[in-house]
Amino acid sequence: MNINSNTTNTFDAIVIGSGISGGWAAKELTGKGLTTLVLERGRDVKHITDYPTANLSPWELEYRNALPLEVEKANPIVSKCYNFREDSQHFFAKDGEHPYVQTKPFDWIKGYQVGGKSLLWARHTQRWSDFDFEGPARDGFAVDWPIRYKDLSSWYSYVEKFVGISGNKDGLPNLPDGEFLPPMEMTCVEKYFKEKVAASYKDRSVIMARCAHITEAQPIHHEQGRVSCQYRDLCRRGCPFGGYFSSNSSTLPWAKKTGKLTLATHAVVHSIIYDEKKNKATGVRVIDAITHEATEYFARIIFVNAAAVNTNLILLNSTSNRFPNGIGNDSGVLGKYFAFHNYRGKVTAEYDGFQDSTTEGRRPTGTYIPRFRNLYQQETNFLRGYAVAVGGRRADLPAKGWGEDLKAQLATRTEGPWKLNAGMMGETIPKATNALTLSKTQKDEWGIPLLEFAVDYDDNDEKMLKDFFEQLSEMFSKAGFSNIKARDTKQAPGLDIHEMGGARMGRDPNHSMLNSFNQLHACKNVFVTDGACMTSTSTQNPSLTYMALTARAADYAVAELKKGTL
Ligand SMILES: Cc1cc2nc3c(=O)[nH]c(=O)nc-3n(C[C@H](O)[C@H](O)[C@H](O)COP(=O)(O)OP(=O)(O)OC[C@H]3O[C@@H](n4cnc5c(N)ncnc54)[C@H](O)[C@@H]3O)c2cc1C
Ligand code: SF4
Repeated sequence: MNINSNTTNTFDAIVIGSGISGGWAAKELTGKGLTTLVLERGRDVKHITDYPTANLSPWELEYRNALPLEVEKANPIVSKCYNFREDSQHFFAKDGEHPYVQTKPFDWIKGYQVGGKSLLWARHTQRWSDFDFEGPARDGFAVDWPIRYKDLSSWYSYVEKFVGISGNKDGLPNLPDGEFLPPMEMTCVEKYFKEKVAASYKDRSVIMARCAHITEAQPIHHEQGRVSCQYRDLCRRGCPFGGYFSSNSSTLPWAKKTGKLTLATHAVVHSIIYDEKKNKATGVRVIDAITHEATEYFARIIFVNAAAVNTNLILLNSTSNRFPNGIGNDSGVLGKYFAFHNYRGKVTAEYDGFQDSTTEGRRPTGTYIPRFRNLYQQETNFLRGYAVAVGGRRADLPAKGWGEDLKAQLATRTEGPWKLNAGMMGETIPKATNALTLSKTQKDEWGIPLLEFAVDYDDNDEKMLKDFFEQLSEMFSKAGFSNIKARDTKQAPGLDIHEMGGARMGRDPNHSMLNSFNQLHACKNVFVTDGACMTSTSTQNPSLTYMALTARAADYAVAELKKGTL
């Protein structure tokens, strides 16, 4: 134990985790003058200098960007992630080093380094609307969200301007427009599909996905040292241009410039310290990832941003006489109502036209169909709905052989037919039985109990999947596509990498963990603003909402600190 920690390790604020939400907490809290300690369990990753593969050509990668068999064998879970490749494997946590218990199968994908998963994400950033915030109340599941779109809309704008979001103003009530930079362009076949869908269906639109790429850098982006995207689609390696948003390129360096930021790496947060006399949290216990030495850090407010799963783990592991079942857990809901997105459905189709057209450059995003099921009324045998990620290009025709023969084939070959892929992004309903708990018998090498996952699909998910197959097949068919194939990947929950819930927001402290400003109802100086706070999941990619919630909560926390209520 560091016995001097009381005097030397005290800050105004502590942020646990340096990923997408932690980066925003750091930026906002330091920007408002608070000395802020960011605790990150992984190593440092400096923007540009720590992207070792960013500028390698395919032939400079030893395995031409495939994964060696021994890496796949040693990492059966993370190898399932499409982005885990030779050029990006150093940004993923490896299976063997971070065990967990799968009471039911769950593919937990983690990025343990400064920047977290912000280095790896696919950067889709769609706002929520009141169709999403009012969902649980209208359809009678989970609990009512304590906020509505009006509470978050200005914070979405605030975040979007800084991050840089490209997109069209599509004017859709279920997917509000934001502060957009110019959109990326649809391929000719995507444009064609958009027109055909609009002609056949009044309730469905195909739009460019809104995404966190700078398409026309503004002064605020230049100030961050970032420039416009170069359409390389090598984002998972880290982007030397800062073309997409990551904590490493954006929020963390911004926070550092204030002079108020302290970043501690290899700092595994074990638990939050609760002071029974003061009735508040006073700090956190940290285990050094390498030396295993324990240290305590203290602060007036604590932001928990370790990503949804680890945030649940830290809260559950923060026990005291006052909170024997985890800090703030008077209601008993901590770890429960855990949810995710159902990504099992895929439909592919080919189009026999536009043979004189192809793509140029490598667009790092795709098109998107916002949710159209059960928006205005209950119209199916399942609750809620799904959004769809759509994208595609001309298929490659294989070339076979060696040497001069292969070269000759490559020189003369033409491209294959246009092919579109549609991926389901289904809302799952949070349930008490979908839960994370702490193992009573097993610990990791830092003495922290392993997490046990009991999370599964249900009948609603199966019915929704069937509808997705039917509707997408029909949409492709009506648009004149052929060779339409539907496939259930049967993947376990988790591979969507949109883990949410466990410490949900709600109006009633008896049934929720957090209030409308992401404060623990029962311990007001602890804020949770990552995916753990989500009351329901809706269908949109969630990280933009975490960022907006974080900026809003930080603003509130600092105001409350000034008033002396925390
Ligand atoms: C391949 C891929 C594609 C994705 N695509 C999208 C997308 O298109 N759109 C979207 O919205 N989202 C997407 N996501 C999800 C997105 O990355 C996450 O929602 C987002 O990163 C969550 O932010 P966070 O701050 O909660 O967690 P993270 O970014 O994961 O950061 C958490 C940080 O906390 C640290 N940490 C964890 N435990 C501890 C501890 N005990 N002590 C100290 N530090 C700790 C971790 O090391 C990490 O750095 C994708 C993710 C992946 C991997
Ligand atoms: S596509 Fe854009 S954001 Fe991605 S690596 Fe290339 S320049 Fe960077």
